[in-house]
Amino acid sequence: MTQPPRHPSPAETPERRPWSLRSQIAVVFGSLVTLVAVLLSLAFGELLKWRIQKEAAASLHMVAHNAAKVLAEGLFEPSRLVQVLGASQDLWEKGMDAPEVLPLLQRMHSSRPYSRWIGVADVHGNVATDTNNILQGKNVSDLPWFQAGLKDVYVGDVHTFMALADRLAPSSSGEPQRFLDFSAPIYRNGETLGVLGLHLSWDWARDTLEALRPTYADHAQIELFVFDHTGEIIYAPDGRIAPYAALGQKLPQTEQPSASGRDSMTTPGLAGLAQWKDAKPPFLTAVTRLPARNLASDLGWYVVVRQPTATAFVGADTAVAQALAGGVGAALLAAVIASLAARRLSEDLNSLSRAALHIEAGTPGAVVPQTHSTREVQRLSRTLDNMTRRLLHMNEAMEEVVRQRTLELQHANQELERQASSDPLTGLLNRRGFDARLVTAVALAQRSGRALSVITIDVDHFKRVNDTYGHGVGDNVLRTLAQQFKARLRASDAVARLGGEEFIILLPDTPPHTALEMAEELLVSVASHARDVVGNITISAGVSALRPDDENGSAMLRRSDAALYAAKTAGRNRAVAQV
Ligand code: GH3
Ligand code: MG
Ligand code: MG
Repeated sequence: MTQPPRHPSPAETPERRPWSLRSQIAVVFGSLVTLVAVLLSLAFGELLKWRIQKEAAASLHMVAHNAAKVLAEGLFEPSRLVQVLGASQDLWEKGMDAPEVLPLLQRMHSSRPYSRWIGVADVHGNVATDTNNILQGKNVSDLPWFQAGLKDVYVGDVHTFMALADRLAPSSSGEPQRFLDFSAPIYRNGETLGVLGLHLSWDWARDTLEALRPTYADHAQIELFVFDHTGEIIYAPDGRIAPYAALGQKLPQTEQPSASGRDSMTTPGLAGLAQWKDAKPPFLTAVTRLPARNLASDLGWYVVVRQPTATAFVGADTAVAQALAGGVGAALLAAVIASLAARRLSEDLNSLSRAALHIEAGTPGAVVPQTHSTREVQRLSRTLDNMTRRLLHMNEAMEEVVRQRTLELQHANQELERQASSDPLTGLLNRRGFDARLVTAVALAQRSGRALSVITIDVDHFKRVNDTYGHGVGDNVLRTLAQQFKARLRASDAVARLGGEEFIILLPDTPPHTALEMAEELLVSVASHARDVVGNITISAGVSALRPDDENGSAMLRRSDAALYAAKTAGRNRAVAQV
């Protein structure tokens, strides 16, 4: 058995009033504009963010690149110096301990702010001359700079050198002095005489990099680092590497910032995001390898520049928020404008529907208003107006036709009534017409208690008139008699031809003796009138009146007939009353 579908009762589905046109337009348009504005502002904000990040990465990379170039130059230049000096034939002509060697070395030493030691050692590693007499007479044959310098120009990575550091003041950073070694063989006439060595203080790197830091670096929290080819940290800001070394900081691996997921952000050489051991959030980090100036000075170092993302990308997130706020503001404005436009439209529609209600209710003077909010509404109101005018016009015409027809019908009915109640020959009332008047007159008389009389009239020997002069002449006689009776009566009286040559006169407000007087006057009037063709004729009359105990007029008519009969029998041309 399948259940018939169950219709929800009205209580379950309350009829919901549809939203107004204005609300619908405002909501639909407003949300569409808001959606588009939010999407556009997000996209625009992301683009702005991406541009800001890219520019920050590029400028950081530029700092790293410049520092790498300067450092590479700083490594290359001393290596060239020792190489050129070691190959100077004239200088070594008289041996490594010749008197002019030391002054030259000292001049070189004092002209280089970071030079900590310059000296020469013979092929066995015995120091022959040095600038500050620190290593004089000592053997350096087991030191790398000596061993490598015997063969070719050599640049040694930064390192501590306790024998030298002990004799010198500590670095300005407070950490032990570290040095860079430069050495080259000393040649005389194609034979290796010994090794020329130069130790530069690592303070050089610090001062160089500090000088290279852009002026806004402090504010922008930009920091420079140097890592060697194994990835060990060899320079940190202020020359303090100890805290980073303790954390095991190695050369950071960068990842391109991919907040916007753009592939172009992975352009090599640009800065990227990297995790550092000393802080949790990643830093925007640029890593640049020092360019190679020559084989010896190419130590495989990396200059690393970092900047906290919070400062590097400052403005990027606010750019998104600002764009979003601007977009939402514009959307709200658009929604308000849409709502105002919709209000004009809905006001027009409301006024049209109000006017339609008035017209429907037939309020006088109700017209369709002219509306102007939109072309369509304007056209609608004009069409409605024309339609209403036409309908009203048609309605008026129709009403006029109905009024006309009703009038005609009334006339026709009156005519019909008149014809039905009148006698065609004389124009007097016929029996039907008389009966109606009689009923009314009896009712009035009974109510008012006033008198009501009738006179019944019959033409004497009328058969003879017809027989002698013809029926047409008889008819004329009947017509002139009717005129005579009518002329003598009041408007409130009624005279009828009951048939043949019999007439009856109803006299409201008239007592029987007055009626009898009137009957006799009529008798005289008729009898004294000499007519064409027929001459004089006479009439007989019977008079009666309504009695208080009469129920209707029948008895009165019977008495009147009886009185007429009595007048006939008494000899005619007379009136008899039977009250
Ligand atoms: P009485 O004095 O006894 O009334 O005599 P009378 O001849 O008038 O009476 P009777 O009733 O015998 O005759 C009536 C005559 O009236 C008969 C008929 O020729 C005539 N008559 C009746 N109706 C008409 C009518 O409409 N036109 C004409 N011309 N004559 C009519
Ligand atoms: Mg008669
Ligand atoms: Mg007669």
